[in-house]
Amino acid sequence: MTQPARLDQLPPEMLDFALLKTTGTLAARLGRLSLPGRSNILTPAFLGNTSRGVLPHISPDNFRKLVELEGVYMALEDFVEKHPQKTPPILQFDVPDPLRRFVALPKDTLVVLGARRQPPIATPMSNTNAEVTLSTSVGFRSISSEYYTAAVRKLQPDIVVGLADIPYGQESIGLKRKDKMSDRTESWLRDLIAKRASIEQGDPRFSIFAPILPIDRDLQSWYLEHLVDDMVDQISGVAIYDAYLLDDLPDELHALPRLSCHMPASPQELLRQISLGMDLFTIPFISSATDAGISLDFTFPAPQSAESDSTPRRSLGVDMWLAEHAVAVTPLTEGCACYACTQHHRAYIQHLLSAKEMLGWLLLQLHNHAVLSSFFAGVRASIAAGTFDADVAAFEAFYEPALPAKTGQGPRVRGYQFQSADHGHAARKNPKAFRSLDELAKLKAMHGQQPNRKPQMQDVIDDEALVGLVQMEGVDPAVQLESLKVEDADGDDKA
Ligand SMILES: [Zn+2]
Repeated sequence: MTQPARLDQLPPEMLDFALLKTTGTLAARLGRLSLPGRSNILTPAFLGNTSRGVLPHISPDNFRKLVELEGVYMALEDFVEKHPQKTPPILQFDVPDPLRRFVALPKDTLVVLGARRQPPIATPMSNTNAEVTLSTSVGFRSISSEYYTAAVRKLQPDIVVGLADIPYGQESIGLKRKDKMSDRTESWLRDLIAKRASIEQGDPRFSIFAPILPIDRDLQSWYLEHLVDDMVDQISGVAIYDAYLLDDLPDELHALPRLSCHMPASPQELLRQISLGMDLFTIPFISSATDAGISLDFTFPAPQSAESDSTPRRSLGVDMWLAEHAVAVTPLTEGCACYACTQHHRAYIQHLLSAKEMLGWLLLQLHNHAVLSSFFAGVRASIAAGTFDADVAAFEAFYEPALPAKTGQGPRVRGYQFQSADHGHAARKNPKAFRSLDELAKLKAMHGQQPNRKPQMQDVIDDEALVGLVQMEGVDPAVQLESLKVEDADGDDKA
């Protein structure tokens, strides 16, 4: 493998990005991201989008054995719920490479750390000059740039996305606020660079991706100028919050790898971003499809269709809750080489979903990740062959433009998976399983809980008491109590 000459001058742990093929400034491109000790990532590619350090539904041993992913994205907000009262456990973990060891991630998997989950939940408090608001599993917390850089220094991820000041959830952002966004982001990025400069020779260092804000170039020109003039040698990539502003990216930053923080809602949107030159993605729709019981079903390039133009477009996914799969002994997708498709069939997976058995979502999640892995392999082959634009057009003609809607029930949803707009609404996060308060009190007693006197806490307690007991309305209370014992024996799930 030939390495660029400049690699000799870099410290051995430095990230390298080689552009293998580009066809213009706003065009799909091929690259290779490499870091000593980690698997090389051929781009365009996607990173596993973790929740509290793991891919939802997939345990570390299954991740090792059954998932083909060279890198993952993690969010600091998933680990610091004890802040500021206590030092979060992960920051007390005194071993080399603590983040990786904490979540039992394989040694060769690249770790990208950002402050917020992908996609982030809008926070009710706004950021200030000194602090960014996070949404942890127990509520909203603010952290300073100093705290972020210290946490990053301690956790030793491979790549860190600089803190960005983005007011999520606001419909319109005033000019003054936009000025502040670029001022703060600039100053927080400097903090991160200064922190890394203070790391002693020989100690592990992290690479920095600079955020590019979702506002017009004019409004962040001051920040971008400083980025290009003073900081370009210190950053290894950019994190782009609005893919359609790639046009505005200064030329000096073009050779850097681009991580999309602009969440694609469908494979078509993914293709659009790739065609603008985006390199790395996190794809939240994979896990949301899994949770909805949808088995993704698309390939790139799309199959050659022998049918006429008038045939309806093919769906991007199969809803596994539909009755037609109850006796179907076919794989999720014919020809798919994933574990789920080679070992099990649709009827079994539907049975698992109906029984609320975690294995059902695990199998779907494995399959859905495998579908995206082959999708990206197809995208890279198509760019290499020079047929990408035509293949995108064929894909758009072949498939429906959006993923199928959710019909069945998903796994139990937790607070940090919710948009804050949902808070305070009458609708319940999880359906209520019991009507009678007497029965409920009995159930709570079995859990060692006292009935709560604060009416506003009622929902919260209900949910906790009823873990795993949904869809039991109309069942004899004695039977309910029996099944609760079984639930207790299994213990609460810790995802
Ligand atoms: Zn499969």
